Amino acid sequence: MADREGVIWYDGELVEWRNATTHVLTHSLHYGMGVFEGVRAYNTPQGTAIFRLQAHTDRLFDSAHIMGMKIPFTKEQINEATRAAVRENNLETAYVRPLVFYGSEGMGIRADNLKVHVVVAAWHWGAYMGDEALEKGIKIRTSSFTRHHVNITMTRAKSSGSYVNSMLALQEAVSAGADEALLLDPEGYVAEGSGENIFIIKDGVIYTPEVTACLNGITRGTVLTLARELGIEIVEKRITRDEVYIADEAFFTGTAAEVTPIRELDGRQIGIGRRGPVTEKLQKAYFDLVTGKTDAHAEWRTLVR
Ligand code: PMP
Repeated sequence: MADREGVIWYDGELVEWRNATTHVLTHSLHYGMGVFEGVRAYNTPQGTAIFRLQAHTDRLFDSAHIMGMKIPFTKEQINEATRAAVRENNLETAYVRPLVFYGSEGMGIRADNLKVHVVVAAWHWGAYMGDEALEKGIKIRTSSFTRHHVNITMTRAKSSGSYVNSMLALQEAVSAGADEALLLDPEGYVAEGSGENIFIIKDGVIYTPEVTACLNGITRGTVLTLARELGIEIVEKRITRDEVYIADEAFFTGTAAEVTPIRELDGRQIGIGRRGPVTEKLQKAYFDLVTGKTDAHAEWRTLVR
């Protein structure tokens, strides 16, 4: 990953990919205090367009604010950096990673002279769990790890340290033969996947957990908008794991995961055991939207050139 051609936007400048390095005493590497985004750009009839750029930049700034980190750039500069990272690497489709971190100016959690640094990298990244997963769905397992309590690391921020919990859950799920983990909140209700929000469908109604223990996913918001436009009833409420077992359909959403059907939880088949009709409809609407096959929500697609 570190040694390739291309450029990375680093504190206001485009630097050679392999020179975009930082010192081993980088504070965030030691204590996990950092915030980031995952953004995708798609090939559209008008050219390569970043999907929901402003929402991602807004969340990056919100995450930093929650963590008490002051980003030394404006939102406009980060938007431009994101466009540049895709454009200057000549990418038609891309995954973009803005990261805000503390540098190596000081050590120890009492360090008070830390500078906030920002990088934006972009590379080609296909379907997060493979093309087959998008069609056939994935197998997931309830995790023995609990998702963050709102007063532990908080949940509105997309912070680097939160992903220790995600990685523990994912490693456990994968080593047990599943594709992804389902994390429950501290009270035992369904929260989210290690990097996705969850939805279930029962009797034509879509249910998804309220944004308390889960990240306020941008794809979640997009899919809720699409569902509303398709006239599907939506209920945001607490969900139990057994409600997922007996759902007609279930799927994950995320910038990386897009709309990924779930076919099995804890060895129990969900619905017909593959992508269900409502999931398929929403998935198609999502891909049509991000790739500009529809004129709807043109404001959500920012061209890189
Ligand atoms: N939950 C978690 C834990 C995530 O890491 C992600 C991916 N950012 C999501 C949900 C989905 O968020 P989004 O749709 O904004 O990518």
